[in-house]
Amino acid sequence: MQSADCLPLGRRLFLKSAAATMLATCSARVLPQPRVPRPLLIRNAYVMTMGAAGDLPRADVLVRGGEIAAVGIGLAADGAEVIDARGQILLPGFVDTHNHLWLSQMRGLFGRSPETRYFRLTERLGAAYRPEDMRIGTLFGAAGALEAGITTTLAYCDNIRTPEDAEAALSGLIDAGIRARFLYAGHDKLAPDVPLAIDHLASLHRNRAAWAGEAPIDLGLGWRTPTASAGEAVLSVALEELRRIRAIGLPVSTHISGDSGPDQLDLLISRGLLGQDMVLVHATGAEPEALRAVQDAGSAIALTPITEQRVGFGLTRLKHYTDRVSRVGLGIDGALAGAPDMFAVMRAGHLVQAAVSGDELAMLPRQVLELATIEAARAIRLDSRIGSLEPGKLADLILIDTQALNMGFPVSDPSSLLVYSARPENVSTVMVGGNVVKRDSQLTQIDSQRLVASADRSLGKIRERADAAR
Ligand SMILES: [Zn+2]
Repeated sequence: MQSADCLPLGRRLFLKSAAATMLATCSARVLPQPRVPRPLLIRNAYVMTMGAAGDLPRADVLVRGGEIAAVGIGLAADGAEVIDARGQILLPGFVDTHNHLWLSQMRGLFGRSPETRYFRLTERLGAAYRPEDMRIGTLFGAAGALEAGITTTLAYCDNIRTPEDAEAALSGLIDAGIRARFLYAGHDKLAPDVPLAIDHLASLHRNRAAWAGEAPIDLGLGWRTPTASAGEAVLSVALEELRRIRAIGLPVSTHISGDSGPDQLDLLISRGLLGQDMVLVHATGAEPEALRAVQDAGSAIALTPITEQRVGFGLTRLKHYTDRVSRVGLGIDGALAGAPDMFAVMRAGHLVQAAVSGDELAMLPRQVLELATIEAARAIRLDSRIGSLEPGKLADLILIDTQALNMGFPVSDPSSLLVYSARPENVSTVMVGGNVVKRDSQLTQIDSQRLVASADRSLGKIRERADAAR
C-alpha cells in the first residue's frame, strides 16, 4: 500500500517544473523498477474473448510477460500462479474512448442549480486548480475507472494552464497504473486564437522514455475544432495546430458537440481535415451524409450516452452511428457521468436505442459490449493490442464474479447479464498488461481511503480558491 498523498511517480518527469519538484520531494523512497509480472493461469472461467473465438464457457487464459500467451481448455500451469475463476466471467478490460479525469473531484456537484450547470461550474472551478489538484483528480478518476474494470482510458486533459498542470496530470495517470492516452488540450479560458502548447507536448513526446518508462501511457492532442463561422485568425491557429501534430505523428481527439456540432463537422469535411488519426467526440447532430464522409476518411467516433443525455445534447442513437461508421466506441466522459461505470454507460446506450427504435432487439446487449471492448479499441486504433482476449495481445483483462445477489449465471451468453445487472463491485480482478491492479475486489497498488480523503481535501481547497476569486 502506498499513501495516496505521496504516491511515487514511477519515473520522475524530466522537466524542471513545480510538478517535478513536488514529485521529487514527495518521493523519498526508491522509485520502483519496471516490473516483470509473474506468469498467471486463470482457470475455469466463462471466457468472453470478444474476438474470433467467441465465448468459451469453461476455459483458461495463460498470461506471460504481460501478454496473453494462450486461451484454451485445460492449459498446463507451467509454473504459473493459478487463479481459480470458477463462477467468474473473464472479459477484456473495458476501453473508455473519452474522459476528463482531471475533474473527478467535482463528481457530486453538477446540476443542482443554474450555477452548477456542467460547463459553468467546470470553468469556474477549473480556473482554481493547481497542479496537485490535476494530479489528484486524474488519479482519483483513473483509480475509480480501474476499480470498475476500465483498463484503458483517453484522458482529455482540458485544464492545462501551465506545463506543470500537464505533468501533474500525467503523474496521476502513471501512479494509477491505467493504460491511457493523454490528450493535451488547453483550458476553458484559452482564447481560440491563442495556440495550444504544442511545443510542450512535442517535448513530452520526444522524451517519453525518460518520464514514462514502462508506464502504458501514450500522447495525443485534444484539439479545438473551430466552427465554419470562425474568423481567419482562429482558423489559422487551429489549422497550424493540426498540421504540427500530424507532422509529429500523434493522434487527435476533438469535440464535435452541442449546437455547434454539425457546423464543426461541416468544416472538417469541407476542408478535408478528417483522417484516421482523429476521434470525433459525440458527433452531435451528424446527418447521415456527414457520417458517410467520416467513414470515407476513416475517422472514429466516441459516444458517451450518459453525459450526452445529461448535458442535453439529445438522445444517443447508437445505431445511427454504428450503421454508418465502422469505428465507434463508448466512453464515460468524466464526472458528469458520475463514477466511471461502463456497465451504466452500456445500459444507458442500449436503453435509448431500444426506446427510439421501438424494438427491444434493435441492438443486442452483446453489440453494446463490443462497443465497450473490441470496437472501442478499434476506434482508438489499439485493436491490434487490446480489446479482445487473443494470444499475443496485451493482458488487459477483468474477472466479473457472478456469485452475488445482483448476478446469477445464465445458461449461455452472459452479455445481457453484464449490460443490465452487473455493477463495478462485481469486478473482482483487473489486470493491465499482466499487472494485477485489483484482486479479491481490492485495488492492490492504491490506498483507496486515503485517495478519497486526498480528493476531498483537494476539492475543498479548489472551492475556497474559486470563492475567493469571485
Ligand atoms: Zn469531453
